[in-house]
Amino acid sequence: MSIEKMEAAELLSKNKFNVDEEIAHIEIDKTICAQCREKPCLYVCPVVLYKLDKNGDISFDYAGCLECGTCRVVCHDIGSKGIVKWVYPRGTFGVNFRYG
Ligand code: SF4
Ligand code: SF4
Repeated sequence: MSIEKMEAAELLSKNKFNVDEEIAHIEIDKTICAQCREKPCLYVCPVVLYKLDKNGDISFDYAGCLECGTCRVVCHDIGSKGIVKWVYPRGTFGVNFRYG
């Protein structure tokens, strides 16, 4: 048996997502985020789903989320707790890892 070596980006590209368009599993309160000085969410998401828009406000899209939970930890431990909802997606929705 041979083991194929792949880079992280390639491994991530193999994942499949079934995005729940009706119910977001993560929600942020942008008024709270505006008061957050450190904004650690910008640096920890492995797929960079937290970004700054042209006005300097946080923008976020839960599509593509790997459900690692890191953003919630740093938001609540270091940030201003602007993530007001973090739950796993409903059954059948969310990420489907192909390579662990
Ligand atoms: S749970 Fe992980 S992948 Fe999803 S938005 Fe938070 S840090 Fe990014
Ligand atoms: S760390 Fe939390 S409160 Fe701060 S900008 Fe990110 S989501 Fe908003």
